[in-house]
Amino acid sequence: MSKKSILSSLPSVDEILKSVKGIHWLKSFPRKKVLQAIREIIDETRQAILDGLHSEVPEHFESHIEERIKKLSDFSLKRVINATGVVIHTNLGRSVLSEEVLERAAEIASGYSNLEYDLDTGKRGKRYSHVQSLLNEITGAESSLIVNNNAAAVLVCLSALSKGKEVIVSRGELVEIGGAFRVPDVMAHSGCTLKEVGTTNKTHLYDYENAINENTALLMQVHQSNFRMIGFTEAVSTAELVSLGKERSIPVMYDLGSGCLIDMKPAGINNELTVQEVVAAGADIVTFSGDKLLGGPQAGIIAGKKKLIDIIAKNPLMRAVRIDKLTLAAFEATLMYYLDENVAKKKVETLRMLFQQPQEIRARAERIMSGIQAAAPAAAISVIEDESQSGGGALPEVGFATFVVSIKPENASASQLEAAMRRHNPPVICRIKDNALLLDARTIRDEETSEVINAAAAALALK
Ligand SMILES: *Cc1c(COP(=O)(O)O)cnc(C)c1O
Repeated sequence: MSKKSILSSLPSVDEILKSVKGIHWLKSFPRKKVLQAIREIIDETRQAILDGLHSEVPEHFESHIEERIKKLSDFSLKRVINATGVVIHTNLGRSVLSEEVLERAAEIASGYSNLEYDLDTGKRGKRYSHVQSLLNEITGAESSLIVNNNAAAVLVCLSALSKGKEVIVSRGELVEIGGAFRVPDVMAHSGCTLKEVGTTNKTHLYDYENAINENTALLMQVHQSNFRMIGFTEAVSTAELVSLGKERSIPVMYDLGSGCLIDMKPAGINNELTVQEVVAAGADIVTFSGDKLLGGPQAGIIAGKKKLIDIIAKNPLMRAVRIDKLTLAAFEATLMYYLDENVAKKKVETLRMLFQQPQEIRARAERIMSGIQAAAPAAAISVIEDESQSGGGALPEVGFATFVVSIKPENASASQLEAAMRRHNPPVICRIKDNALLLDARTIRDEETSEVINAAAAALALK
């Protein structure tokens, strides 16, 4: 057939819309997307015919349209399966919430609530009040506030307590967390002046002492989060800084970042300060994230002395960074778990994933391996030991012993397989090591194993 006659046998948009398939698509998908998909596929096919790639209208013409319609009308924000082993993966949404926590959020969002209404007096209430007493009870702080995220918490605290004044920070703590959160930049935006003291590796109490003047508003500590210094180092403890602050009447603020609420020592992690420890050491203000080690929704918590919390609460920025009701409901439900540490370790997904036993991870990895082997017998698959990471800018020095399914594809590269897994529905995000694709069973949930097997089987069949 000549190109011209193939082109003339291509159906028109109208003909396709009136076909059985077309009528079905219009019933199931938004008209706009159906039209867009039909036009795109017609244009692409026409071009391919002109380029001499087809000697007739392609066999799968209709199914191409259907695929395109589905793609165009799909949500952009999708559930993915985290097979990276990085538990608090910021790019994959950090902490996973439990069904119970989500039910609370759904219940509150699907009706009206007493978000800012005091049911005792019938008058206007405060949204922070709903988690204040729980936060105070769990952290030991006198008072607390909750905002959008920890970056906002730091910004609003600095703005409220030190605008136009100086804040003293150790050079060893001027960190960049990622996503452009850099301590010096946040300080500049909050209107205070950063006064750096000490050196990169060593800061002494006298460095802070010598830097204090009549314009000093805060002594600030920042958790190093995603990096560690080893060797010839020295830092000032919160307790030491607090006693200096008391002597000079200058409050101490600690940006703890991850904000761990349970003792990690039983898990062999000895150098992660808990929020409770920092509060007990006398820090006047502590800020931390809701969705890192705490395992709740995205939020920023400000806990500390009532006098300062009251000042921060009145800052106009608070309105710009206020927490919404869905988050607040999910956060309150997450905090409830922390009333009993053992409950938290089971029910908070982030903690459950971090603390699960290696043999449990191994059993899951083996189930996944047998599933893939049954579907793709030719592939070289094994379960091997490896290390997972906490992620979320926490515990960078700690490797969590884990088991991974390692796949070495025969006639494809590991990165081709990785891409195929990523493009699967639902996408499975993996890591590559030594030219093998690794599926870390730590972050794969039991209910996701069959989806992971299907994705791997499909990816292996592709090549
Ligand atoms: C993660 C982190 C932040 C930012 O917290 P978000 O909740 O992501 O806004 C700020 N400071 C430190 C020390 C951190 O680790």
